[in-house]
Amino acid sequence: MCGILGLISPAPVAERLVYGLTGLQHRGQDAAGVVTFDGRFHVRKGRGLVAEVFREDADRADLLGRVGLGHTRYATQGSTTLLDAQPLTMNYPFGLSMIHNGNVTNFEALRSELQNRQHRVIETSNDLELILYTLAEEIEAEAAATPGGFRALRPEALFAAVRRLRQKVDGAYAVLVVIADKGLLAFRDAFGIRPLMMASGQAEGGPEHAFASETSVFDMLGLGPARALAAEEIVLVDMDGVVHTDGGSETPARAQAFCSFEHIYFAREDASFGGWRVAAARARMGHLLADAVRARGLRPDVVIDVPSSAYFAASGLAEGLGVPYRRGLAKNNHVGRSFIVPSAIDRARVVRQKLNPIPEVIAGRKVAVVDDSIVRGTTSRHIIRILREAGAEAVYMVSAAPPLKHPCPYGIDIARRAELVAAEHSVEEVEAQLGADALIYPDLAAFKALFGGEGHCFACFDGHYPTAVTEEVRRSIEREQVASGRVG
Ligand code: SF4
Repeated sequence: MCGILGLISPAPVAERLVYGLTGLQHRGQDAAGVVTFDGRFHVRKGRGLVAEVFREDADRADLLGRVGLGHTRYATQGSTTLLDAQPLTMNYPFGLSMIHNGNVTNFEALRSELQNRQHRVIETSNDLELILYTLAEEIEAEAAATPGGFRALRPEALFAAVRRLRQKVDGAYAVLVVIADKGLLAFRDAFGIRPLMMASGQAEGGPEHAFASETSVFDMLGLGPARALAAEEIVLVDMDGVVHTDGGSETPARAQAFCSFEHIYFAREDASFGGWRVAAARARMGHLLADAVRARGLRPDVVIDVPSSAYFAASGLAEGLGVPYRRGLAKNNHVGRSFIVPSAIDRARVVRQKLNPIPEVIAGRKVAVVDDSIVRGTTSRHIIRILREAGAEAVYMVSAAPPLKHPCPYGIDIARRAELVAAEHSVEEVEAQLGADALIYPDLAAFKALFGGEGHCFACFDGHYPTAVTEEVRRSIEREQVASGRVG
C-alpha cells in the first residue's frame, strides 16, 4: 500500500504537493518523495515521514515546475532502502518519472525479459522500475513508428503504449507518470484494483488537475468534485492543461474489482470512492456486526474500538445493538500503525507501545471490542489480555472484516497464508487462540451485498482473485518478501 499524488497546474506545484502528501501519510511511512518537471526533473526523496523528508522550506526550494508527483511508500515489494523509494526517473531516450501503488504479480518474468532481451540494468528491487521500463519500451515503439519521433507523439500514441503495457504487466497498479514535455499520465490495472481518483480546480492562471489515491487530498487542496478513473481509462493532462481521456466508457462495471479492504482499513474515513464515503461504509459494517452479535445471543454492556480505523464500525455496532459506545483504549498517536510496520518484532513492540485501557470504561463490564480486521491475531491477543487486566467481565472480539483466509498478491503484506490466523482454523479455534469469550465476524455474503456484490475484490476472504494467481505467482511473491527482508 502506498499513497500517490500528481498535480499539473499553471502555478508552481512543489509546496502543494508536499502539503497534499501529508494527507496520504497513513498509506505509507517507509519513505516519501516528490518530483517536479520544468524542462528537467527535480527529485527529493528520503526514508521516513513526509514531515521528516521535507523538514524545512529549503527541502523543496529546488523542486521547480508546474507539474509533479508525490509518493508515500509502504514497501510491499522491494526493500525499505532509499534506492527503492519513489519517484523513479529516467532521462534517456526521453524523460519519464513515475510513481505507483500496487504490486506487479508477474515481476519475475518481466524482470528477466527486461534484463535479458532489452539489456536493461534493473537497479531497484521494486516493481515500479519494471513498469517504468515497460512503458518506456512501448513509447519507444510508438516513437519509432511516428514521423518526427517522440516529439511528434500525440496522446493517442501514449494511450496505445499503455494499452500494450497492460497486456504485459499483471497485477494491481495505479500509476502516475510525468512524461517530459507531454504532461501527466494516469492509469490503473485493467480491473481497477487499487484506487485512483481525479479532481480539478482553478489556480491563478487557469485550471489545474490532480490525481490521488484518496479524495481527502483534494479537500485539502481545494479541488473537486472528485471522480474515480474507470479501470480501463487512461488520462493524459498535457502541458497546456488540456485533458485527454481514453477507454473509460467501454469498461463494463462488472469487470472492475476494486479492493474492498480500502473501505475496511486502508483509506481514511473522510475518503470517498465512487459515491461510497468510507465512514458511511464502516458504519454499515457495524450494523452487520450487530446482526452477528445478536445471532450469537450476546449482549455487551459497552462497545469500544481499537483506535482509530474501527471507530465507525464500532459506533455502527453500538447503534445497532442499542448499547453505549465508549473510547475504551487510549492510543499513543506518535507511533505508527501496527499493521504497516514491516517486521514482526517491530509490530509486537508497537502494539505494546500504543494502546492503554481506560479502566473506568472496562472494569466489571462485558466489553465488545471492535477492530477493523484480524490478520495474524497478535494484536487481538494483546488487546484481549490488557482488557482482562483492566477488569473486563467478558471480552467479545469483533472484526469488521470477514475472516481473512487467503493471501493478497496485490500490494498488501498479507501475502503468506501461514500468517493468517483464520486461514487454517475455525472461528472456534481462533476464538480459543485469542483468549476471547466470543469472536464475531460479519457474514461474508451480507458483507459482499453491502457493496452490491460486484465491482469489488473480496479475494482475501473468498479466494476468487480477479487476475490469474497461480501457485507459482504465490511462491514468487513469498520468495521476494523473504529476499527483500520484509518477512523472515
Ligand atoms: S485480496 Fe483483499 S486486500 Fe487484496 S486487493 Fe483483494 S480485497 Fe484488497
